[in-house]
Amino acid sequence: MSSPDSLQIPENLLPRDGRFGSGPSKIRSAQIDALVTDASTYLGTSHRQSTVRAKVGQIREGLSSLFSLPEGYEVVLGNGGSTCFWDAATFHLIERKSEHLAFGEFSSKFAAAASAAPHLEDPVVITSEPGRHPFAESRDDVDLYALTHNETSTGVMMPISRPAGATGLVAVDATSGAGALPVDPTQFDCYYFAPQKSFASDGGLWLALLSPAAVERVESVAASGRWTPAFFDLKIALDNSRLNQTYNTPALTTLHLLASQIEWFNAHGGLEFSAGRSARSAEILYSWADASEFARPFVENPEMRSTVVGTIDFTPEVDAALVASILRRHGVLDTEPYRKLGRNQLRIAMFPAVDSEDVAALCASINWIVGQL
Ligand SMILES: *Cc1c(COP(=O)(O)O)cnc(C)c1O
Repeated sequence: MSSPDSLQIPENLLPRDGRFGSGPSKIRSAQIDALVTDASTYLGTSHRQSTVRAKVGQIREGLSSLFSLPEGYEVVLGNGGSTCFWDAATFHLIERKSEHLAFGEFSSKFAAAASAAPHLEDPVVITSEPGRHPFAESRDDVDLYALTHNETSTGVMMPISRPAGATGLVAVDATSGAGALPVDPTQFDCYYFAPQKSFASDGGLWLALLSPAAVERVESVAASGRWTPAFFDLKIALDNSRLNQTYNTPALTTLHLLASQIEWFNAHGGLEFSAGRSARSAEILYSWADASEFARPFVENPEMRSTVVGTIDFTPEVDAALVASILRRHGVLDTEPYRKLGRNQLRIAMFPAVDSEDVAALCASINWIVGQL
């Protein structure tokens, strides 16, 4: 048995890129190169002028194409990330009452925001234990169903479909799932996300794909005169997005890196390409864990096991935190589990930017560490 501090993982086993974090996540060097190439005419220029507005236009068109959005769907964006979008949704997407599937840290937060909003009725919240997801129940008094494509805190994914018989809007938190999981746009009215996960950019922005019904909801609630802080006003965001702008100044670097990643996905075949990369990585990770004597997938049901964010439990004899810290010393970063889940576990993001060979190398490195301990 060697002392953990002296372990040196052989160079040839290590991943070439050690970024496995669930967000901010790995950014490809080609994205940085493209930013550097454009830097002197793009960075430090006005977001109200054509250079930056063309970039926003490229993002909006690129997302329409990536998600094969049907006629009438619109791409809207604003500052503040997905967390801000929850608050905006409580003002302009929920008319009176929402239903939430809460199965982890993130899905619970939107439910909490809706519960706290004084102008809304108490939401219906359907919960399940971490490690699985609950199912929606359609109800006559619900005008918005809040689903989560991928619960990043637990590594559980759920397929997106309209609850049978539901008339309310379907709003999906796809912050970590968008771009990495297949989705049929006819099954949602609002599919929102932030670019620091599958889109390999930086945080601080939210993007939402809105169906005609969602656009109509935003417009009708705005017309009803409900008081809304301008920053959370989806009508203002919609009007600005149509002009390829945001309400206030966006981070230009974030927009540029995002546009590059969307372009990369689309140039190689779109969502099938990007989701395929994540699926291949997940196949490698879960086959390794299934075969391992000390590791196993935390999510029991293979259909709920995320192909974007993998959570791997370790047997009590192997200290996952120690393994993560040894990896970190070698530049293999952010494999620590979601802190509040409190399990002897590693969490490994497999966003499309991550190379499957690096996931295989990570598994080999973990095997080596555990063999030495
Ligand atoms: C990361 C994440 C969020 C929060 O995104 P921010 O941009 O930091 O607000 C929300 N939901 C899910 C599912 C996430 O993975």
